[in-house]
Amino acid sequence: MERILVSACLMGRRVRYDGGAKTSSDERLAAWRREGRLVAFCPEVQGGLPVPRPAAEIEGGAGGAAVLDGRARVLAADGSDVTAEFLAGARAALAAARDAGARLAVLKEGSPSCGTLAVYDGTFTGRRAAGRGVTTALLERHGIRVFGEDHVEEAAACLDALESSGEAGSASLPGP
Ligand code: SF4
Repeated sequence: MERILVSACLMGRRVRYDGGAKTSSDERLAAWRREGRLVAFCPEVQGGLPVPRPAAEIEGGAGGAAVLDGRARVLAADGSDVTAEFLAGARAALAAARDAGARLAVLKEGSPSCGTLAVYDGTFTGRRAAGRGVTTALLERHGIRVFGEDHVEEAAACLDALESSGEAGSASLPGP
């Protein structure tokens, strides 16, 4: 059975910076949870950050790839540099996905860790910029397909393609 890495906050875990969750009401996620497919994971908590914690953004509106490559930092609203924690969390997420054999993920949009299409622009003014979070960028570099929580239908198509392909790792996957 294909496993799916999922942002823990989408599963109702109170791990967000503000101490809350962003519980998804998506029926497919609920079904996958009942089937035991989901591996709930919070990169920021696993990277060593507390709950609650100051909001953090990638400086300069850069995406997660720039953080992975050392071209941008992740800064918290209180000015502290949390780049190391974000990188540790991304590596832990990749390890969790590999341990579970997960080849796809459904993550929380807009997060500096889990965003798939957009992240906040580094100004702490609520503006978003196109880009991926740090964990998303690392997972994708290692061949794991990542979908935002508003694109579960595409994730389901990806899951179907993986399961119909038979052999692990040989699927030709549809795009997000
Ligand atoms: Fe949710 Fe990801 Fe933020 Fe953790 S790091 S609270 S899983 S969006």
